[in-house]
Amino acid sequence: MKYYSLRHQSPPVDFRTATVTGQAPDGGLYFPETIPKFPAGFLRELRGLSKATVAFNVMRPYVGSTIAEADLQRICAEAVDFEFPLVPVTAEVSALELFHGPTLAFKDVGARFMSRCLGYFAQRGDTPPVTVLVATSGDTGGAVASGFLGVPGVEVVILYPAGKVSPVQEQQLTTLGQNITALEVAGTFDDCQALVKQAFLDEELAKKRFLTSANSINVARWLPQQLYYCFAMQQWPVGAAAPVVSVPSGNFGNLCAGLLAQASGLPLGRFIAACNANEPVPVYLRTGTFTPRPAVPTFSNAMDVGNPSNFVRILELFDNDLTRLRAALSADTVTDAETVAAIRQVWERDDYLLDPHGAVAYAALRRYQAQHGGAAGLILATAHPVKFPDVVEPILGRAIELPAVVQALQGRTKRSVPLAVNYEELKAYLM
Ligand SMILES: *Cc1c(COP(=O)(O)O)cnc(C)c1O
Repeated sequence: MKYYSLRHQSPPVDFRTATVTGQAPDGGLYFPETIPKFPAGFLRELRGLSKATVAFNVMRPYVGSTIAEADLQRICAEAVDFEFPLVPVTAEVSALELFHGPTLAFKDVGARFMSRCLGYFAQRGDTPPVTVLVATSGDTGGAVASGFLGVPGVEVVILYPAGKVSPVQEQQLTTLGQNITALEVAGTFDDCQALVKQAFLDEELAKKRFLTSANSINVARWLPQQLYYCFAMQQWPVGAAAPVVSVPSGNFGNLCAGLLAQASGLPLGRFIAACNANEPVPVYLRTGTFTPRPAVPTFSNAMDVGNPSNFVRILELFDNDLTRLRAALSADTVTDAETVAAIRQVWERDDYLLDPHGAVAYAALRRYQAQHGGAAGLILATAHPVKFPDVVEPILGRAIELPAVVQALQGRTKRSVPLAVNYEELKAYLM
């Protein structure tokens, strides 16, 4: 498999180069030259396959010969080494719980897959020592820190917006130490992302450090997210109509991966891009005009993205054809008040505790079902509610019990480096 730059000014590369470099030299995102079709046998037998086998089958064509078969099998098995239960919430809505990994958010799979690929390439001497430079709106940082901790030949530098991530999120990215450094930026996630983007285009810096990204712009983080949708279909009732799939979206990597799995033949129904007040994509689907905006803070902070990087990949998947895109994808905006109301209603009526991100997906799906008839659907429950106690605990009326992986972080010393929204300061640090 070759990957081309969506800006078309750099040559196509293989999976190894796309993973190691993150972004094309022309600043474009990499995109696969062909969309592989899942073999008919794979789809027929999907329910009976192990998660590791599903992962290997889906990832093999994308990885090609850049990773030996036995190694790819091991990497796949380790990346999906926890549960992904599909839990009924109401008669019409099920939640695919993606928060049973080490950092309690869905980004664990992509981060674990990518870190192991990069570790494999570094160990074989296929790449010089790498610095992974990543901006986080909340959950990426923790997943990347956990996934890369102790990987030889890889140093990790994480930029996060000061005061805009939850305490558990902050602990997950500032307390591990070793090869992980957290830069606490006096700005928003968009500021962090802009600083990172500038660093990638800095030729002087590139001579000093070999930089790569671990955001979902990196194909090794983006592509494994297709697996969630396969795991959902392994558990979807036999013979039932294809589910409407509501995806809480920020940078749009997860949703784009779902559309990719569908293009490969996975029988999914309509997609809903469930957004918070950061809504350039809902506005685009309504008006045909895409206008990035500064991010505004919401309760679903991992989706506070004003200029979603992966949206260009979605456009590419649909040949930039708005009519075709509208036929596959709806979008909706859910306010903080609606998010809280959804958490409260589902907790009181259905005895199920949503986190703010899952709640955005839930509210958007219910609105879609109310307007278009009751086709059954699923939401991606992308984070554990314990990561958002400020929102969830007042509804619950008590503290949520901390899972063991979070308890282990309590009392550990926070280590972060303060940084202004100033590229020269970041550059000085990296040099
Ligand atoms: C990152 C994240 C999202 C948004 O995913 P994208 O792929 O960036 O659209 C949603 N929910 C949670 C909990 C996240 O961490």
